[in-house]
Amino acid sequence: MLLSEFAGNAELKYELSEIMKRGTLPHAIIIEGAAGTGKRTLADIIAQYCVCTAESGRPCGKCNSCMKAEKKIHPDIVYADGEKKELSVDSIRNIRTAAYIKPNEAPMKVYILSNCEKMLAPAQNAFLKVLEEPPQNVQFIMTVKSASSMLQTVRSRARIFSAYPAGIEDSVKIAEKRFPNKDIDEIRHTAEICDGNIGMTLQMIENGGEEAQKLAEEIFSAITQSTEYPLLALTGRLTADRNFAVNVLDCMAEIAADCVKASVGVKVSSQAAVNMAERYSRKRIAETAEHIWNARKILNTNVNLNLFCTWLSAVLRT
Ligand SMILES: [Zn+2]
Repeated sequence: MLLSEFAGNAELKYELSEIMKRGTLPHAIIIEGAAGTGKRTLADIIAQYCVCTAESGRPCGKCNSCMKAEKKIHPDIVYADGEKKELSVDSIRNIRTAAYIKPNEAPMKVYILSNCEKMLAPAQNAFLKVLEEPPQNVQFIMTVKSASSMLQTVRSRARIFSAYPAGIEDSVKIAEKRFPNKDIDEIRHTAEICDGNIGMTLQMIENGGEEAQKLAEEIFSAITQSTEYPLLALTGRLTADRNFAVNVLDCMAEIAADCVKASVGVKVSSQAAVNMAERYSRKRIAETAEHIWNARKILNTNVNLNLFCTWLSAVLRT
């Protein structure tokens, strides 16, 4: 992808394109932003710029180097992901040693360190050494949810760029291209729920966004019903797919937050939240919200989905 094709973030794009034109990229860059704002895509574009062999207009997107970067098979672009435990002290030491070895074929070597919120202080300190005495022709790109989770000493040696959700219109356009068979109103609704965050919108559509929202609302109305069976049947539908279950729980957490607000008189748009707020005491609502937030956390573990659903149904009725 070319920088001009990156959605939203006009200021950031302008700033970066000027730096690229002048050829004054700082040797270390931190890209911060919420999940789904395109940090990885931006890092890929910068990496492509660094390895591109075109005379001008880098990255050209056409040269052999750009092609390899696009396919993520360029030997001079090294990826390390904190999510995959690749940013431990030992891994950072390896990166540090390798960074001083000349690039294989590109003019520069690029290290993309993603999910740096998982890089703990000792690893950051180990990394600091290479930032203090940066090797020639090496570009470091770090992505992180918030730069504030990195040590001040690391931050001060890097240039920080902030990425923001591109907006609802851009999300709709991109999702439409990705899912040509999806209903446009459904896509727009999902983009709105995701506040114009493209990554989140795409993920939600992929994991059955609209369906997840609907099921979350149904579960909420079933909580207040007098018989247990409807709730058990509805939560049973979460066993089909873990990603879908995560999506439903995320939607439920949003309704629960609305419910807490509605219980203290704040106006909210979710009808399911309003209904529950009318029927239940504040204490009961707070407990239900707590159960849902816990359930969402439990889904991050390798829990058996059948047991999880039975437990969720029981806990929501107590
Ligand atoms: Zn190129």
